[in-house]
Amino acid sequence: MRVIPFLNHGITPFPIRIHEGVEAESNVSLMARISWKYRMHPSKFISDVVLQNNASHGIGLGRDVANFCNSLTATSVIVTNRLEAITGKKIFWPSSFVYLSNILDRMAHGFIAKEKKWCAQCYRESMAIKRPESEAKVADELYWSLAISQYCAKHLCSLSYCCGVCYQRQPFISNKYEPGFCHYCGTSLTKAPHIICDLDGHSKSEAESYLAKMDIFIPGATEISQFDLKILSRNLRGLVEKGGADGLYTLTECFGINNMTLKDWCSYKHGVSVESL
Ligand SMILES: [Zn+2]
Ligand SMILES: [Zn+2]
Repeated sequence: MRVIPFLNHGITPFPIRIHEGVEAESNVSLMARISWKYRMHPSKFISDVVLQNNASHGIGLGRDVANFCNSLTATSVIVTNRLEAITGKKIFWPSSFVYLSNILDRMAHGFIAKEKKWCAQCYRESMAIKRPESEAKVADELYWSLAISQYCAKHLCSLSYCCGVCYQRQPFISNKYEPGFCHYCGTSLTKAPHIICDLDGHSKSEAESYLAKMDIFIPGATEISQFDLKILSRNLRGLVEKGGADGLYTLTECFGINNMTLKDWCSYKHGVSVESL
């Protein structure tokens, strides 16, 4: 793809609008919208333009792409920088989990979901907004790509993970249909099965308490600048002290972790693994 020389002359080859209705769009979602708008094969676009590794078969559009681009590795930083360069837009929201790299264990396994998840109600609202014909109708929140995400923070309904017609699970980016439509049968993903709070025997408070536990992953819930393992260690040591002789025991009970892990966190030895949150 011959877009790289343009960048060297300060020309932005892929301008794109900020997607109205989405709080913090993920890198993967942004790449899906760009490749749709400019009618490029997404895996070739990602390998040739974004990662510039010219992989002969492009990049896998399932879990691979989310692992590379939405997580907290160095590649996620590169991807964000490249997306800013090619779109000419400053990404001021967290588009990957890099903002948690000072606190989470970088080796955390199972951090990103194996398949795409989305909120069917967010998609419905997004599709109702009038946009230019060439623009994708939907975009994805970063926290939906987390393996432990279950609910939409806006609608408190469950996230969907399969098409409502063919019941197939979805890749993170489709190379056949536009974002928001089933990769296999083309049906709108607004029709995907999901559980609506207080209507389907599912309580709102259950969703709220689940979301409260994972608020560090949801933008707007907490100040991003406060995520630092040093601060966490200091706070934990303070709590242990306040608990007196039983302090350590009480905290391990509260967190559901063992003594050694808590001691490691207190002594700032290693990051927090997602499984332990
Ligand atoms: Zn929603
Ligand atoms: Zn389908």
